[in-house]
Amino acid sequence: MTQFSDLQLSEPLLRALAAEGYESPTPIQARAIPSLLEGKDLLGIAQTGTGKTAAFALPILQRLAASPERAQRGTCRALILSPTRELAAQIAESFRVYGKFMKLSRAVVFGGVSLGKQIDILRGGVDILVATPGRLVDLIERRALSLAKVEIFVLDEVDQMLDLGFIHAIRKITGMLPETRQNLFFSATMPKEISGLAHALLTDPVKVEVTPVATTAERVNQCVIHVDPANKVKLLAELLKDNNMTRTLVFTRTKHGADKVMKQLSAAGFTAAAIHGNKSQNNRERALAGFKAGKILVLVATDIAARGIDVESVSHVVNYDLPHVPESYVHRIGRTARAGAEGSAIAFCTPEERPLLRDIEKTIRAQVPVTEHALGLKGVQQLAPSFGWNPMGKDKPKKPHHRGQNPNRNHGAGQEQKQGKPQGQRPAAGQQAPKRAGGGSWMSEIGKRQA
Ligand code: AMP
Repeated sequence: MTQFSDLQLSEPLLRALAAEGYESPTPIQARAIPSLLEGKDLLGIAQTGTGKTAAFALPILQRLAASPERAQRGTCRALILSPTRELAAQIAESFRVYGKFMKLSRAVVFGGVSLGKQIDILRGGVDILVATPGRLVDLIERRALSLAKVEIFVLDEVDQMLDLGFIHAIRKITGMLPETRQNLFFSATMPKEISGLAHALLTDPVKVEVTPVATTAERVNQCVIHVDPANKVKLLAELLKDNNMTRTLVFTRTKHGADKVMKQLSAAGFTAAAIHGNKSQNNRERALAGFKAGKILVLVATDIAARGIDVESVSHVVNYDLPHVPESYVHRIGRTARAGAEGSAIAFCTPEERPLLRDIEKTIRAQVPVTEHALGLKGVQQLAPSFGWNPMGKDKPKKPHHRGQNPNRNHGAGQEQKQGKPQGQRPAAGQQAPKRAGGGSWMSEIGKRQA
């Protein structure tokens, strides 16, 4: 297996990685770092959770430190664009952590906070600048920053940037960059519009593609509970009594929905917080810090607000409302099972949401196993999968299991099933989901009911 020391990384970086407890590079790191250190352009098809931030941050730090240049006043040497403030803050934090034994300056700028301080910081010049596109353009127009000295340019989560309408800002920004520079381009998906943009920006790029949509979903133990809309909150409160749900991220479709669920959970005695675009930056940061520290058990979020939330050991993701874009389901459940860990995802599905579930199953090319619950709808069977039945099988889907979820396929794979988690396969009668030692898990309750 490749080690960090095989990647020609400098000693201060190796020391920082060791201090972080990283033992070996993730696939995107192993494949991207050597080319990036040589100064090549990169097209990365990867989503959060793959270790992509370190894949670009490490070589950037090393290249900047290796050159005798220093940031001139009102300029930056590496520019990283991120779609959301949360992700921008997260990326800047990664640069701090990985670069802690180096003497490089960095700053992060995004909207929603005062311009004055950001202008002051940029005046002196910074080596590494992480920014959201709108605020960056604002600062450039106020002459607080020039992009004329950018040596390395990173566009992160491009699909999300386009979804958020940042295309004009991106074009404006790229138009101001110097001709000679290194370009890095990351997107979880690569539809035509995005590959066109990549083609225009990159010169002879190295292409690295990791964990396509379907395989990310495979690491997560998923289940769906069919439920009447009126029972969703009660069901969630009931599930949360399970001690295994130690850090749960709940997704709602709307900001209003997030607030409502948060209030109802709080009224039911759970420590919960909501984050979405209408909350102040302070408010969001407080909620996130509480969640990270384990003081807040449940964080209720909308898709946009949850982008870039990098909280380790999220035990469960609950799709309280199913997303309208199937890829969002994959992004959501990817908040658990970070960097190779396992996690659980529970989806609630009302009768109206069934077409959305079907789209999701098509996208992940697998069925989400149905789990019954006393508060759920009874007798809803798995939907016929549209990715095809086994023509020879007896009503068996072609690909009914996810890797790591079929106990028979797990042996020797180093992926032991964790007790008390929803499993990826609907348990057959008499072969129920594993019971926890205490027997108090809602899964074991379900198991008993189904037996
Ligand atoms: P990212 O995909 O950049 O959002 O990273 C996902 C998570 O994986 C972050 O919490 C990182 O701190 C963590 N991570 C990144 N690289 C490694 C590694 N080589 N070993 C262990 N954890 C890592």
